[in-house]
Amino acid sequence: MDQSNSEVSDFSDAGAGTNNPMCKCGRRSRILTAFTLPNIGRRFYTCENYVNIDNRGCGFFKWVDMDICQHGKRVVSKLFEWHKNLKIEHAQIGTTISNEILKCKIELAEYKSKMEVGSINFEIQLQMHKNKVHAREIKYQFALACSLIVVAVLMFYPVTNRYSSRFMLP
Ligand SMILES: [Zn+2]
Repeated sequence: MDQSNSEVSDFSDAGAGTNNPMCKCGRRSRILTAFTLPNIGRRFYTCENYVNIDNRGCGFFKWVDMDICQHGKRVVSKLFEWHKNLKIEHAQIGTTISNEILKCKIELAEYKSKMEVGSINFEIQLQMHKNKVHAREIKYQFALACSLIVVAVLMFYPVTNRYSSRFMLP
């Protein structure tokens, strides 16, 4: 049972003890602890079938603990109020932290998608650069082959021409 949201709790429930008085149902009553002002923390006997303040079984009720002094009640009430405020503050902090975590997750997802897009662009540019380099290599190889052919022709042409002219001389 959630003590903060209910007016009673089985926090100190001793169960249906053999010394507990009988309720109107003819069964041993149970002990619950009140969490209502001005009886916070005061235990009472109630029906075994007690569910909540609107459904109290046969309605049997008897205090277990003596009433405390007015000063004790004020102290307990103040402590209870502090506890409630702390729980509210705790819930608000939890909500703030959850929102911050959510923001961080969104920012991280955006950063990841930007990184992926950047990576893809980089890959595309790298591939284009590789293609340019490859095309340039082919050009240079073609130019080198042409140059070699020209050099070979220039080397052999005069010799052939010399022999030809020698053969053609009388
Ligand atoms: Zn009963």
